[in-house]
Amino acid sequence: MSKRIVLVTRRVPEAVTARLERDYEARLNREDRLLDGQEVLARAAGADALIPCPTDKLTAQFIDQLPASIRVIATFSVGYEHIDLAAAKRRGIVVTNTPEVLTDATADCTMLLLLGAARRAHEGERMIREATWTAWAPTGLLGVHVTGKRLGIYGMGRIGKAVARRARGFDMRVLYWSRQRKRDAEAALGIEWCELDDLLRRADFVSLHVALSPETRNLVGARELALMKADAVLVNTARGGVVDQAALVEALRSKTIAGAALDVFEVEPIPTDDPLLALDNVVVVPHLGSATVGTRKAMSDLAIDNLLAYFRGDRPPACINPVTLT
Ligand code: NAP
Repeated sequence: MSKRIVLVTRRVPEAVTARLERDYEARLNREDRLLDGQEVLARAAGADALIPCPTDKLTAQFIDQLPASIRVIATFSVGYEHIDLAAAKRRGIVVTNTPEVLTDATADCTMLLLLGAARRAHEGERMIREATWTAWAPTGLLGVHVTGKRLGIYGMGRIGKAVARRARGFDMRVLYWSRQRKRDAEAALGIEWCELDDLLRRADFVSLHVALSPETRNLVGARELALMKADAVLVNTARGGVVDQAALVEALRSKTIAGAALDVFEVEPIPTDDPLLALDNVVVVPHLGSATVGTRKAMSDLAIDNLLAYFRGDRPPACINPVTLT
């Protein structure tokens, strides 16, 4: 029997490439060039499955043009805001993602940003590199003590819970808001549910962990930022679109809030002339949430396991739209 054809839009870890090449006719992108929609469509001719990334925009128009041979889209991410699920459903295409395996890495990245902003790590690094560090000083680069501070988690899903666990390890008090109250997490982690506005008013750090969708786009805007304490820091490892970035720049400039620590941006890569990058009270990293060797390998394996299960006729382990399974 001929092998199924799988199109992978970006370079994936070598161990996974080997697995793909063993079990499938793999159409790879070893040079990791960013392909536009037309190039992906051209490479997709006759393929059975597509493994895209959040850098690919699978709009309704794109999905409508996919060849009929494509039966499953296994995205290399937990987020799926870049895929028009309704269009995939219309075409009877199954969509899968990679939850759980990236939870710890993304929660670690959240703590990295939170601690980095609290202790002004980015400013300290710049001092060393620019040779402006003259001596240890009793009043030099004083940051914020994290112990005992309140962390407000906006979205108590998998990553929100993992961040709460870590924050408790730093003796932080954790407030959270989620559409659905998580009483099991409250009991297990000693965290407190509160109304969103209350969370914004009380938290010293606000960390965002909601999925991006039309309902959550610009969820944090000028009104929400104005509710936050003047010495509070906003941390975002969810998606850039969850925050109104222009409103955030304004809030940081006017010291409505003290700082922001960001892994994700409205436009990625963030343009180097973006006003956010001119502000000292902003810590940035380039969408590193899940970027560890082990996590990216696990994400790749889960994406392939999803395909395997689908082609066996089973429900994939991480299926977003099972309604289309036949
Ligand atoms: P998850 O377990 O599905 O949690 C999603 C959270 O979003 C839940 O708390 C959910 O609320 C909330 N939510 C969804 N739709 C909402 C809406 N319309 N209004 C308000 N809240 C809504 O997902 P996860 O695994 O924790 O991942 C969370 C997000 O992190 C992903 O969607 C992804 O965008 C982002 N992420 C980023 C990176 C990175 O590299 N920076 C890596 C991994 C993930 P309920 O609790 O009430 O259901």
